[in-house]
Amino acid sequence: MKKLIAGNWKMNGDSASNAELLAGIVAGLPGLDACDVLVCPPSVYVASAVTALAGQSVAVGGQDVSVQVKGAYTGEVSADMLRDVGATYAIVGHSERRQYHGETDALVGEKAQAALAHGITPVVCIGETLAQREAGETNAVVKRQLAAVIHAVGHCVSELVLAYEPVWAIGTGQTATPEQAQAVHAVIRAQIAAATEHPERVRILYGGSMNAANATQLLAQPDIDGGLIGGASLKVADFLTIIRAAQG
Ligand code: PEP
Repeated sequence: MKKLIAGNWKMNGDSASNAELLAGIVAGLPGLDACDVLVCPPSVYVASAVTALAGQSVAVGGQDVSVQVKGAYTGEVSADMLRDVGATYAIVGHSERRQYHGETDALVGEKAQAALAHGITPVVCIGETLAQREAGETNAVVKRQLAAVIHAVGHCVSELVLAYEPVWAIGTGQTATPEQAQAVHAVIRAQIAAATEHPERVRILYGGSMNAANATQLLAQPDIDGGLIGGASLKVADFLTIIRAAQG
């Protein structure tokens, strides 16, 4: 399966800077088709990103999705709406959603299920905090978070994309070492293998200060199937370098 390099733009950009970023990515892509590429702009820019990328092999995703289909849920965006404007993925359960919006393991599982039910591939984020790592709880936390998702999506486990994102590595410049990341990815792979006959279909991305300098080593690990990139996805040259690193 091809690796997937996904950019999480978080709450950054505007119409002009997005157009520039997307044009730069498109201009640099020829010859880099050995991996899949995804960009996740803020929801108000998803439709214009789809338009800007028409005819290109770059997918567009949301950064979150509602568990609801439609109705009186002010501020929410449904999977149907994302799909309607041409998105094909949604990040689900990012640690910033868990931390600032109180998203629980159960809610993240429901969101993943809602996305799948409406034709959107969820990129489900799991990962431990620094305190949990220091307490030796990394595997237990990741397994618990993943178990809630597996429980919610039932037989659709093989349709998920997962992202292991140690919270202490996100936006901090402190990347997990390739060995640290691989060790957790192997735990995740084993849990997936127990839940589906097709564990090889599930891409497990690494996220947390992945950048142009460290991507090659991280992406060389046997169970790292791509990257979820925050800060470095906002810089054309860095994002393209990471995409290049995923060609191997
Ligand atoms: C992220 O937000 O998913 C992320 C990995 O951010 P950064 O690359 O900036 O650490």
